[in-house]
Amino acid sequence: MCSGCDGTGTLASEAWERWYAESTRLVALVSDADREPVLRTLVNQLLQRHEQERPTEARERRCDDCGGAGTVPTEEGHELLAFLRRHRER
Ligand SMILES: [Zn+2]
Repeated sequence: MCSGCDGTGTLASEAWERWYAESTRLVALVSDADREPVLRTLVNQLLQRHEQERPTEARERRCDDCGGAGTVPTEEGHELLAFLRRHRER
């Protein structure tokens, strides 16, 4: 199994992870500010601005370590692949 992506073949975008973490934090702040209308308005404005600052990149990208396969051939795997390749070429 590929250690770079834990076998999924894709990596989550760091920009999106940061964006989601900030969303979660702001949403928690909104409910904390429930009894303070002024605070609530301010946090809602922050949330709206945050909503407009969504990352433009893709949420997932292909893992470079395994080329998106999720697995990296072992030493034996490489030998087997080489064997099959030779066999096919005959
Ligand atoms: Zn990978």
